[in-house]
Amino acid sequence: MKTRRKTEQKKRNSSLASRISAFYTKMFAQWLTIVLVSIIIVVIGFSAFSQYYAVKPSIDILEEQTSVAEIVEAIRSNKDSLFSLLNSDSQIIASSEKLLSENLTVYNIDYVGAQIHNRKVYVSIAKNYFLENQDLKLIIFFNITLMLIEIAIIGALAILLFFISVLTIYIQGNYLTRKTFRLLDEFIEKANNISSQNLNLRLNVNNSTDELVELSMTFNRMMDRIESAYEKQKQFVSDASHELRTPIAVIQGYARMLERWGKDDKEILYESIEAINKEAKNMQDLVDKLLFIARNDKDTMVLIKDRFNMSELMEEMVKETIMLDTKRNIESQVEPDIYVNGDRDRIKQALRIFVDNAIKYTDEGGKIVLRLGKDGEYAVASVIDNGKGISEKDLPNIFDRFYRVESSRERDKGGHGLGLAIAKIIVLRHGGRIKVSSKLGAGSRFRIYFPLN
Ligand code: ADP
Repeated sequence: MKTRRKTEQKKRNSSLASRISAFYTKMFAQWLTIVLVSIIIVVIGFSAFSQYYAVKPSIDILEEQTSVAEIVEAIRSNKDSLFSLLNSDSQIIASSEKLLSENLTVYNIDYVGAQIHNRKVYVSIAKNYFLENQDLKLIIFFNITLMLIEIAIIGALAILLFFISVLTIYIQGNYLTRKTFRLLDEFIEKANNISSQNLNLRLNVNNSTDELVELSMTFNRMMDRIESAYEKQKQFVSDASHELRTPIAVIQGYARMLERWGKDDKEILYESIEAINKEAKNMQDLVDKLLFIARNDKDTMVLIKDRFNMSELMEEMVKETIMLDTKRNIESQVEPDIYVNGDRDRIKQALRIFVDNAIKYTDEGGKIVLRLGKDGEYAVASVIDNGKGISEKDLPNIFDRFYRVESSRERDKGGHGLGLAIAKIIVLRHGGRIKVSSKLGAGSRFRIYFPLN
């Protein structure tokens, strides 16, 4: 099936290649024909012209004569040209010496005549005179044998040149077009073979020429993007399964414990119920986050945007944080009446992630500052802590899905490494951006920019 498709494709390409090279050959042949025909016309014209000019002085002499006797005498004494004079009864009354010596037969003609004599070709033309009340006719002969031989040689050479050139062009054109189409064959073959199992297929750029290099590179770049997106997706699914496996294993463990001892041992009963509840909540939280990210990936997340008072939202966050966390000092510096156009709930969700992280990664007794101000066209919310900070090595990755700094992996800290990825999605969807500065052991500062209105 696959081979048949390939053969058909090759056939299609080669017929296209032949059509292209045939087109160029035809164009070249037409052009060459025009050139060669023009050369032949010029040669014939030139020969005819030179023949005419050779006899012109003799004709001029004849034209100067005023009597029949004079013109007869002028013809008889002419040595160079082939002249014969006829009277109105078609009788020859004079012939030039050369005409007599070549033994040519003179026929009466009206305008033009031709004859072959002694393997030579002659063309004759007639010229009428009226002298002393007589109609006379001068027949002038031209020996065109040499001219014909010239034309024959030039014509033969031209035809030979024509066929050699056309053949060369056809062979070269065919070779070049087929070479070009070979890359397309490879292109089609690779594209047909691409599947999720071999996204690493690439075109060999060194095989291509000029524009085809660009085509191959574009194809390869597209494959790079697809492969990296696919790898990310695969990693995401594998990380998600891994994260879900732990709470499932914990729940299964406690269920087994309940089965064995839970009916008799009250302590084990309560401990198991509490643990199962905690893990179920953990799973619920993870599934919610995964759904959120999936919705964003599918572009189906709907933001309900409205103009709202960001200063009020920030004050609300401060109050909630003070209630939630009594072990750290929460400070606030909120500029009043800053309005932003956006989805209030989502923005609160994003800020919550930054504030929760500040609490999670700052020791008890530490300080957390929540600030809101303006910077140009942006409202800037800052979450600053003097907690454990993030190393330079980890900083570029903290917004990646499932990325967690090694030291934050203890299970009691909670979290799955999805918080900042979600916060980033929300901020970017609002046309905003995030800046982080952090120093290991000294603390972190997250600045979140939202466009004002
Ligand atoms: P997690 O669920 O692990 O908190 P996040 O995506 O919210 O996941 O954060 C990713 C990682 O960034 C965390 O594991 C943590 O190491 C680091 N991080 C985030 N915020 C802070 C902060 N304020 N101080 C120190 N480290 C932080």
